[in-house]
Amino acid sequence: MPILLHTQDLLDVSVVITAGPTREAIDPVRYISNHSSGKMGFAIAEAFAQRGAKVTLISGPVNLATPHNVQRINVVSAQEMYQHAIQSAEQNQIFIGCAAVADYRVEQIAEQKIKKIPGNDEMVLKLVKNRDILATVANLMENRPFVVGFAAETQNVEQYAKDKLQRKNLDMICANDVSGGQVFNSEQNELQLFWQNGQERLALKHKSDLAKQLVDKIIVRYKWKLEESK
Ligand code: C5P
Repeated sequence: MPILLHTQDLLDVSVVITAGPTREAIDPVRYISNHSSGKMGFAIAEAFAQRGAKVTLISGPVNLATPHNVQRINVVSAQEMYQHAIQSAEQNQIFIGCAAVADYRVEQIAEQKIKKIPGNDEMVLKLVKNRDILATVANLMENRPFVVGFAAETQNVEQYAKDKLQRKNLDMICANDVSGGQVFNSEQNELQLFWQNGQERLALKHKSDLAKQLVDKIIVRYKWKLEESK
């Protein structure tokens, strides 16, 4: 019989988490992406699963093992992530948008590898905006889950995070300062949490410990909101 090392106090909670980067194809061999490693999202998924929650992890291309007792859905592009995320969001109680979703995609993906044109020193790619997954989930009219977003900022962290909380209609936002470039692919992170009437700083620590602490904070706010809506 397996030995349970964690309290199974979230057996009645279901959560969907997006994690990692997305890849926006340019042609069959090239793409636009970002530095997200997926580590924070995977750590959050693991922390929820350890406490017995039902966890769906929608992941962009990352080099990480799936945590135990987590259902993983692999996606590549932002559009693919959008489809799975909206569908899952309506069936779960908590939605956490941890992925670094590409804001833009290439309008026309070339069917064949784009060749260099002799004498051409410039190349123009037309990009079009991707739909905002988090804002769409937060504005669902039916079956809207409790919605947590992330904000990676290089300046005015608090201001931008609070703006995002309002603009995207979120229940909570977790902001981190990425100005030093130390967050991406790092084992450690620190977060500043904001919600409607409060805020809290989670000090620098290993992402797995930070994730455990974050799960506590999310659950407190989630239960508070549940009580309030009764
Ligand atoms: O507006 P910004 O991209 O900075 O917001 C970051 C938050 O929004 C993250 O939680 C990210 O997962 C989410 N997001 C999203 N879909 C997009 C862009 C961002 O879900 N197309």
